[in-house]
Amino acid sequence: EAVYKRIAAGEVVVNPAAVVKELMENSMDAGATAITVEISQGGKELIRVTDNGIGIVAEDVPLAIQKHATSKISTLDDLDKIGTLGFRGEALSSIAAVSRLMIQTRTADSPEGTVLSVSGEHGPEIISAGLAEGTTVKVENLFYNIPARMKFLKNTSRETVNVTSVVSKLIFANPHISIKYISNGKVVYHSPGNGNLKDAIVAVYGKDMAHKLAKTDHTFGEIHVHGLVSQPTFLYKSTNYMCFFLNGRYVQSKNLQSAVLRGYGERLLRGHYPFSILHIDLPLSRADVNVHPSKLQVMLYNETDVLDTIQKAVHTSLEESSA
Ligand code: ADP
Ligand code: MG
Repeated sequence: EAVYKRIAAGEVVVNPAAVVKELMENSMDAGATAITVEISQGGKELIRVTDNGIGIVAEDVPLAIQKHATSKISTLDDLDKIGTLGFRGEALSSIAAVSRLMIQTRTADSPEGTVLSVSGEHGPEIISAGLAEGTTVKVENLFYNIPARMKFLKNTSRETVNVTSVVSKLIFANPHISIKYISNGKVVYHSPGNGNLKDAIVAVYGKDMAHKLAKTDHTFGEIHVHGLVSQPTFLYKSTNYMCFFLNGRYVQSKNLQSAVLRGYGERLLRGHYPFSILHIDLPLSRADVNVHPSKLQVMLYNETDVLDTIQKAVHTSLEESSA
């Protein structure tokens, strides 16, 4: 059973970037307005995520690391309208099985906080302590008890790049949250959390980016597309700079990319791609996020409407900015 648990955990938690994503999404689900992410050695040695969210009440802390003990979904019907980012109740239990995990947490109305320590072979141990409001989750020595998994981790710089990429996407997804990202003691990004997507982009790509972008905003029925796309004179030779957020969730889709490219039409040089960060907001019932466990893929009902809206949004914003 213990072995099974460890193998299964490795499926959910494949690398430090996946851990960072799960922990940050938990902070977001907890209503945090400020999140600090610290890693060392690409997250292989240490990942620490601190938030100012609602915290976990003492009696629920042991449940947080139990599989499927999530409180976020109570009936099967709810799966149709998933509004929170986490919903499988697998992340913390999986991480606990393959690392040394510590959770420090306090809710607003409890005088004392709770500290839970657990690892692949020890615990959980729970004590009370004076803590700030919110939650800190610390993950040390990922895969220390699964040499085979550990071997599959990339070198430190590669794992750092992967974490950095996840953090930047979460910054774009959440301009209303101030996100501070520290790697090996150095602040890499610090987004203001003022709700302005352009400021979030500047926090990641620098000030020069600000005047290379055109604002995009278009609504068709229940579909709202908004974000920023680069001027046609500012293109890349890869699609790496095209990001999509569906109801705030980062998703990957060739169809969405193609719709943006159609919006540029003749403006695009062959083999060149824009920088684009687009939020697509639509009723939860029109998207199925449950297609793949990594939650990157989605199924859209009436996808054509969504694609047309994106094309129109991009086209209109380029017309306006060149006028
Ligand atoms: P899920 O997010 O799918 O519910 P997780 O394993 O990621 O499952 O987390 C388990 C539970 O622990 C969450 O449902 C939530 O109640 C609690 N939790 C985890 N992280 C936080 C956090 N940063 N702040 C408040 N509660 C949290
Ligand atoms: Mg979660």
